[in-house]
Amino acid sequence: MHELSIALSIIDLVEEETRKAGGTLITEVQLEVGMLAGVDFKALELAIEMAKQNTMLEHSVIRIDKIPGKGRCKKCNTGFSLDDLISSCPVCHNHAIELMQGGELRVESIIVN
Ligand SMILES: [Zn+2]
Repeated sequence: MHELSIALSIIDLVEEETRKAGGTLITEVQLEVGMLAGVDFKALELAIEMAKQNTMLEHSVIRIDKIPGKGRCKKCNTGFSLDDLISSCPVCHNHAIELMQGGELRVESIIVN
């Protein structure tokens, strides 16, 4: 399961950062996940809930910020919102689009008690 391996690497990262900071108990973790990151949000939430048992995140609240997709046309430079990766430019209908936002998958903040 794709989301489970993401969840495990997030938990690893969060635990490592917390250890470096000298913390032991994590109360809240804020994640930023792009709508176009190819992640199933429900599955990811479920996977984290499962995977955080017996870790430093066991009693933490996990918040997932969903970042909407934004793209920019490589030809005319128009910026626009992007619902999927196969969209075309609304102005010149070019299909070469640069993903500006929405592909994120990162830990935004960790709150340690
Ligand atoms: Zn264009």
